[in-house]
Amino acid sequence: MSLQNEVKKSRSFLFRLPHGCDLLQELNRLCSENGITLGRLEAIGAVQSAQIGFYDQTTRVYEFMTLGRSLEIVKLTGNVSLKDGKPFVHAHIALADRDGTMYGGHLSEGTIVFACECLLESFEGSRFERQPDSQTGLSLWSKA
Ligand code: ZN
Repeated sequence: MSLQNEVKKSRSFLFRLPHGCDLLQELNRLCSENGITLGRLEAIGAVQSAQIGFYDQTTRVYEFMTLGRSLEIVKLTGNVSLKDGKPFVHAHIALADRDGTMYGGHLSEGTIVFACECLLESFEGSRFERQPDSQTGLSLWSKA
C-alpha cells in the first residue's frame, strides 16, 4: 500500500481544559469553534469519573463501562477529522487508579475532567470525512 494522504502540520495549541467539563464534548467544541477539521491530539491529567467504550466486533455494538471515581489520565490520544461535515474527535484514553491498575478504551461522553493538559496539532491536507464502513460497521475514513 502506498501512502498518499500526506498532511502538513499547520498549527499547534497547548491548553488546559476547565475543571468539571465533559472531556469529549469540550474537545469537539474547541475544534468546531476554532475551525480545526484535521489533526491529532494528546493529553494527560485526571478525571473525576469516566465513561469508556469497547466495540464488540461480532455484534457491532459499543459496550460502555462507567468508572465513577477519580482516575489519572495516563494518556489520551486521538485524531480530528470530519463526520457529517463537522469536526469529530476520535480519542482513546488510558486511565489508572491509585494502585496503578489501568483501564482503557474509546473515550465517550460522560468523562468529567478534574484537570487536563492538552496538545492539539492541526493539519493541512486533503479532506478526511468519516463514512459508514460495511466491513467493520464503524464510521471510518474512506481513504485507505
Ligand atoms: Zn475508538
